[in-house]
Amino acid sequence: MSTPILNEEDLWNAVQSRDASRDGEFFYGVMTTGVYCRPSCNSRRALRKNVRFFASTEDAERAGLRPCKRCRPTGAPANVLNQVVHQLARQIDAEPERKLSLEQLAKRAGYSPFHLQRSFKAIIGSSPKEYQTAARVRTLKKELRNEAPVADAIYQAGFGSGSRVYEKADGQLGMTPSEYRSGGKGLTISYASGQTPLGLLMIGATDRGICFLQFGDTAEGLLSELKLQFSAATLQPMPDSSRSEFESWMAALNRHLRGLEPRLDLPLDVRGTAFQLIVWRYLQKVPYGEVRSYAEVAEAIGKPSAARAVARACATNSIALLIPCHRVVRGTGELGGYRWGMQRKRVLLDTERAASKR
Ligand SMILES: [Zn+2]
Repeated sequence: MSTPILNEEDLWNAVQSRDASRDGEFFYGVMTTGVYCRPSCNSRRALRKNVRFFASTEDAERAGLRPCKRCRPTGAPANVLNQVVHQLARQIDAEPERKLSLEQLAKRAGYSPFHLQRSFKAIIGSSPKEYQTAARVRTLKKELRNEAPVADAIYQAGFGSGSRVYEKADGQLGMTPSEYRSGGKGLTISYASGQTPLGLLMIGATDRGICFLQFGDTAEGLLSELKLQFSAATLQPMPDSSRSEFESWMAALNRHLRGLEPRLDLPLDVRGTAFQLIVWRYLQKVPYGEVRSYAEVAEAIGKPSAARAVARACATNSIALLIPCHRVVRGTGELGGYRWGMQRKRVLLDTERAASKR
């Protein structure tokens, strides 16, 4: 009655593991219930002795079986699940920056999260989550080739912060994002970190001056940020010969953070696009204790329509405090964003306001 199929044991294994990658290849019927299914059907497992295999829906129906209402084996074309999963993958590719949970994807597909997870993995070869990460990495690579500033590319690709993409990129890009660009080629950067009232602060410096000054939770995390930005540079822990200089910088920064030294005079080695340099240079002229809106900065540098680009230049500043991007706020009086967290921005501005009134 049915077309003979070789290796029933293999088919039975596929049914037992509900292997969606075999959907369309064959069907199985449960003779006691009179129903036939796709291999991936999530209905209750049948006993081996009651199961028969069929190469087509016609074969199964000729054996007197009717299609299962759950897995709808007659759905056209042969493999609905396969199509649905590929369609989801295309949707993820189309908007990689959008983070969709397994539940959201399952709802779109009309399957349970568990079933989708399993099917996606079987058909695509990775979980939906892994696939989304891979899609974001692909976008990032493309953005980087298009010469967008590294930080912009990271945000456009939907990654929250630089260090996270660095972790992902390690395995998936094969090289760090900034290696797509020059990444500080030929530079030697010494780094060290120290505690401040606002948390751990890492200084990275070339022989010309400070090129990196960032807050973070851990020294490892900060080192990842430094690597992300200067991956082509030679990075080394601060040598003993520079220790005293480093200590004096940290002492000045600590006094500054306590409101005791409004004017910082530390050597800088700033790298950026022409536009970034213009914005950053202007920020250095905003007096201690005062703020400007993004629009005011745009106006002041002669590019009144570039408020968004100004905000981006602030968000990509990698030299905290010395380039005081925290002094730029929203026109509405709201604080706006801060690369090192709103709480730090608030404390910095409050400290400056209080100290300048003394
Ligand atoms: Zn079924």
